Amino acid sequence: MLQWFIPYKNIVPDEYVSTIFDIDYNKLYSQGKRLILTDLDNTLISYIATRPTEELFKWKELVEQIGFEVIIVSNSRKTRVSEFATELQLPFVKFAKKPTKFGFKKALKLASRKYERSEVIELGDQLMTDVYGSKRMKFYTILVKAIDKKTEKWVTRCNRNLERKMLKKAKKKDLNLYQSKLEKYEKENL
Ligand SMILES: [Mg+2]
Repeated sequence: MLQWFIPYKNIVPDEYVSTIFDIDYNKLYSQGKRLILTDLDNTLISYIATRPTEELFKWKELVEQIGFEVIIVSNSRKTRVSEFATELQLPFVKFAKKPTKFGFKKALKLASRKYERSEVIELGDQLMTDVYGSKRMKFYTILVKAIDKKTEKWVTRCNRNLERKMLKKAKKKDLNLYQSKLEKYEKENL
């Protein structure tokens, strides 16, 4: 039912990539992007992982070296979010309630300076929370392939069902857009 009320354009990311390591951060920086708001579960680490990987420490160093500020924005309420963020030495917002604007706005307030929305990149693995919320904020939105789908929670599985319906709607409304931004994601994730 929900799929009738959500505009299909709001679930279309600007880019779809396999992992956060496959993004051209230098290019995004040259385009004026400065702040990265990133999802945690299945975007940075799987649901069952508790510690940041070596690769993630390097990623953080790399993007900060380029000049980005990074903040974690997670819907999870668990202490795991704060433990993980503390270890990576990143500010975070938990229980962000994506796709509402609540957590994103909170993150913008946490940032070291005031950012224009056009300077913000959002990274996430889900259409109905990350992409939809980010698009409502008018952020540049990058969708990534979920790290480990097998460990997804029931809420996420419900969202994935809704994703299928939304993808069907998008395909019907705008085939070109669907093919350029969503088809690969659907094939690889659903
Ligand atoms: Mg996620």
